[in-house]
Amino acid sequence: MLIFVGIIVCMIGLGQFSPTLSRNAPQAPTSPTPEQLDRLLPTPEVHSLPPTLEQWQMAEPLDDYFSEIEPTLLGYLIWTRFPVRVFVESVAGSRSSGSNPSAIERSQQWVTSVRAAIEEWNPYIPLQAIDSPETADITIWRSAPPLQGWSASEQSGDSPTPPALPRARAAETRYQFFVDRASAAPARISHRFTIYLTPNQTADYTQATARHEIGHALGIWGHSPVETDALYFSQVRHSPPISDRDINTLKRIYQQPTRLGWEISEE
Ligand SMILES: [Zn+2]
Repeated sequence: MLIFVGIIVCMIGLGQFSPTLSRNAPQAPTSPTPEQLDRLLPTPEVHSLPPTLEQWQMAEPLDDYFSEIEPTLLGYLIWTRFPVRVFVESVAGSRSSGSNPSAIERSQQWVTSVRAAIEEWNPYIPLQAIDSPETADITIWRSAPPLQGWSASEQSGDSPTPPALPRARAAETRYQFFVDRASAAPARISHRFTIYLTPNQTADYTQATARHEIGHALGIWGHSPVETDALYFSQVRHSPPISDRDINTLKRIYQQPTRLGWEISEE
């Protein structure tokens, strides 16, 4: 089956989220052509808006950064079944805390910060915390991004920045497409997100980084050029909350066609 991944690497150590955005780093040696996709997969269509975004009023003139959002090979990264299930690595499941009380407290603080960021997005896209990563739509790990993702994103060739030192990376978000036969009948083309978020930040920065990365995972696959947006490409000292522009952008994304979420026919 077709498996493609996209990766967004966000750096904090150097004072900047990297705008590196790997649209379609293919795992397979060759990417399918649009004609092959048309033959194999549903044609891109628009889903109905989730009620939470339906009721969001966009003021005129429309202020957003939709033009910065990259559609993927399969279209926009839109969730179609709600609530979106989110797994957050817990203290008990954490690899590094051991039995050291201050380490346990720090990892609890990390979880609290990440959960606070989830609650910030919940009014716009319904999210549900679940206990198992196996059935999660979005999985958030309490660890620095793996080196593998770093090299893969640098190999994508569309990075405008020189390779960063691995230790500078605070977070990484990647998606993967798959055919969902387990929770959908008939089968659907679906996607899942994995977020790696370093444990080595203060609570405020952890929440800000989680807010930013979850924004990517909800479909904002790009960065804002304006520093008062949560999806601004660079880390700022006082991280802004989710802005009207963030939600305007999110709503416009959910009004776009995608191949995701539609039934596929398998012979
Ligand atoms: Zn980012």
